[in-house]
Amino acid sequence: MSVKTNARTPKSKTKANLNGTIGVLEANPWHQAMLQLDRAANRMGLEQYIVERLRHPKRILTVSVPVKMDDGSVKVFEGYRVQHNLDRGPAKGGIRYHPQVSMDEVKALAFWMTMKCAVVNLPYGGAKGGVICNPKEMSIGEIERLTRRYTAEISIIIGPDKDIPAPDVNTNEQIMGWVMDTYSMTIGYSAPGVVTGKPLEVGGSLGRREATGRGVFYVTRELSGLHGFDLRNSPVAIQGFGNVGMNAAKIFAQHGCKVVAISDVTGGIYNDHGIDVNALIEWRAKHDSIAKYPKAERIDVDQLIEVPCDILIPAAMENTIHHGNANRVKAKYIIEGANGPTTSEADKILSRRGVIVVPDILANAGGVTVSYFEWVQDIQALFWDEKTVNAKLQDIIVKSFRDIFEIHQRDKVDMRLAAFMLGLKRLAAAVKIRGLFP
Ligand code: NAD
Repeated sequence: MSVKTNARTPKSKTKANLNGTIGVLEANPWHQAMLQLDRAANRMGLEQYIVERLRHPKRILTVSVPVKMDDGSVKVFEGYRVQHNLDRGPAKGGIRYHPQVSMDEVKALAFWMTMKCAVVNLPYGGAKGGVICNPKEMSIGEIERLTRRYTAEISIIIGPDKDIPAPDVNTNEQIMGWVMDTYSMTIGYSAPGVVTGKPLEVGGSLGRREATGRGVFYVTRELSGLHGFDLRNSPVAIQGFGNVGMNAAKIFAQHGCKVVAISDVTGGIYNDHGIDVNALIEWRAKHDSIAKYPKAERIDVDQLIEVPCDILIPAAMENTIHHGNANRVKAKYIIEGANGPTTSEADKILSRRGVIVVPDILANAGGVTVSYFEWVQDIQALFWDEKTVNAKLQDIIVKSFRDIFEIHQRDKVDMRLAAFMLGLKRLAAAVKIRGLFP
């Protein structure tokens, strides 16, 4: 099947033009997150005081981050760290560098971390950090200085027992290494447990790099078993080719699945015979983009959502599946590798059309699960082999999937609602046991 191609260079979807397409509230992640919370709370009859507490992040820190740029000037960036909830343990969540980071986005991402850790039953609360910057336009030195100053600024609330950051969009292992070093310099001794997703040499875990993509694969495989479809004969489309999207593509391909479409912010490609993922990775290393990969048709960035496929894996940013394109989704199954890729308006349309959505707080929980393993290994100074990491990851993801699938069938609710019901039940129990201080 051929897909209409677009010869011009596609523009990336900015929040500004997304707002134009879908309206301010549909484009606001915090608003979307609160709609999800209200929906689940109403369905469960959750006590209003618990809902009220979850509507208010526990701690919000805004920092200004002055950085000496390569030209000698000083530029001041704005950064955030939000600790949404700590009732089940220390806060956990990534750090994002992106020009469109906003407080509402970081709050929503922190809320989803609270829910995600509860869904997979990790002893953590939820947090997130972000800096408004464009790392694509910064040198390595500038990114290092930004990271070190941001870490120093948030060091008053992070720590191995308090709040443990990790990578997210546009942050990577090296950046986590600088977070670890900066925090360690501040306290006077090495504290590998302050951050996860670090290089192996400074206390990182085997399997962390691939963990989110691997978790995406595990939930899809479970779904195929329970829904009775053949994974190898189900074309897959993946939006985003970073940590989550690229590793998901690799792992699906390793298991004999056909990845027919892939996109990143520079453009998209489609080949109904399947894309050779390893060849694409090599091509990108040389050309810095996937858009002109010769062994596939070129498609527009936005077209990825609409290509013919059975399984769609959004693994880029929030709100990429919205009321304006949900009707054009061809996939039967959406596995949310990204956080918040489907708006509530799109959820309704997809549900009406019978499309199954495996929600972010389950589908991409492989990342935080292996981050938890990394933290446990750091604290014990005792490291596991990759087979052990992957086996433990599989156990947690498969069990969580089955728990949620059971609620989905028993209560006749969609998978997102089922996941929220499971997570909120655990969270509410912790809130009640701890009581209200003073
Ligand atoms: P990344 O920076 O490694 O990669 C992001 C990718 O998305 C890049 O390929 C970029 O080009 C692409 N992209 C950005 N906008 C796009 C658009 N409009 N269309 C198509 N592609 C676009 O980030 P990541 O760590 O892979 O994170 C991706 C998503 O997964 C985010 O929502 C993040 O919060 C979530 N997530 C990440 C992890 C993790 O372990 N890294 C864990 C759980 C969830």
